[in-house]
This record gives sequence, structure tokens and C-alpha cells, in this order.
Amino acid sequence: MKLKDKVLIIEDEQSISHFISTILSANNYDTLIAEDGAEARSMISSHCPDLILLDLGLPDMDGMDILREVRAWSNMPIIVVSARTHERDKVEALDAGADDYIEKPFGTSELLARIRAAIRHTRTPLKNGGIAQDGQFSVGGLTIDYDKHHVLIDGRDAHLTLNEFKIVALLGKYAGKVLTYDSIIREIWGPKAKADNQLLRVNMANIRRKLEKNPAAPEYIFTEIGVGYRMRDEDEADDAKRADED
Ligand code: CA
Repeated sequence: MKLKDKVLIIEDEQSISHFISTILSANNYDTLIAEDGAEARSMISSHCPDLILLDLGLPDMDGMDILREVRAWSNMPIIVVSARTHERDKVEALDAGADDYIEKPFGTSELLARIRAAIRHTRTPLKNGGIAQDGQFSVGGLTIDYDKHHVLIDGRDAHLTLNEFKIVALLGKYAGKVLTYDSIIREIWGPKAKADNQLLRVNMANIRRKLEKNPAAPEYIFTEIGVGYRMRDEDEADDAKRADED
């Protein structure tokens, strides 16, 4: 029998925490609820959850403090679930090590897909720590071949440049997860690269021209405006795609 994954819901609004808990229990997760930061701290260390859903507006502290504390010692997946929808808040949370960021209100299927993706990423450690990865990543008609360093679209070589390939390979490695502009720039052009989104934007325009049937309504690489890019996940439902196009 498969052991259930344990999800800690850090949320002070009971209507929300109970709603999430009900969804997760129905989908074979064990759930725990912490209603403030102090309770969250003690539950994290005593229960060691498989994943944390973190509200930012807690009565006794800012959820960002919990995020930074946990990241100081653990890679356990943390998804921020917040009513703060400003781009700056998302970038700050992702750069502080959140695996993902879900805006309230959210859809049930979106929540479940993001949880599956975040848990899967922690269970499949990547070789070499960089973009090198064995095998292939496929979603829809897109295949990234990490051994041969090329990307196929509907079976044909997309003829990406080296940097274009690196960007697509990086997003594929973290499919389902938003990567901030800065994190992509640092990974592709090095830690000292100027945080200049223009170069990345030009590359992305070329990538989309090569990969997407309609670059204005992408099927594979989505833009989180002001935040970064996200590769469609292998089991992502079409509703996530439509949400991106709004
Ligand atoms: Ca709250």
C-alpha cells in the first residue's frame, strides 16, 4: 500500500483550511492544519510534512518568515497560497525558495496539479545539478531530448540556438513551476549577468516562434506577467492553459 503524502496547511481562515483539507483528503493526502505561525513552526518540526501550503497573511507573523526559516534547513516543497496578487509578492516568494505560488481564489484541479508537480520535483533529484538531465521530457507535441540537446516539435527538430535550448531545457526541468526572470537569467547567463529581461524576452519570442503554433496564445511555455515563465506540466489540465491566456 502506498503511503499517503502529508500536507501541512498553514492558514488562519478556517473556511479556507477546511476547504483545502477536504479536497486533499478526498485525493488521498493526509492533512494537518496550523492556524498561525507559532503552531506552524512546531508542526513542521514535529511532523515533517511532505509539502507545505503557506498563507502569507498570518495573525502572528508574515508567512514569508516561515518560508525563509524552513528554506534555511530544508528543501521540503512549499507552495504559497495567497490573496496577495502583486507581482512583487510572487517574485519575492519564489526567489525566497517557494516552489510555487497560487493566488486565492484558486481552482481545485489547479491546486492538485501544483501539489503533484511540487512533490514530484523533490522526489526526482536531477543529475549534475545543472540543466543536464538524462532522457527526455515530453508534453503534448513537444519533446526535449536532454541527451542529444535538441527540442522536437511534432517530431521535427525545432532548430533552437544553444541559449534557446538552455532556456527550454531549464523550464522543462521544472515543468509546472514558475521560474522568475532573474532565476532564468542567472542560470543561463551566469550569476553576474545583469538582470535585464530584454535579452530573455527576445530569446523567448524566438523560442515561441519556433515551438508554438500561435505564439500569442502559447500551449507550452506560459508567461506569468511580471514574474517569469512556466513550462506546461505533463499532467496539466487544459484549464490551467486557458487561465494563462486570459
Ligand atoms: Ca490569512
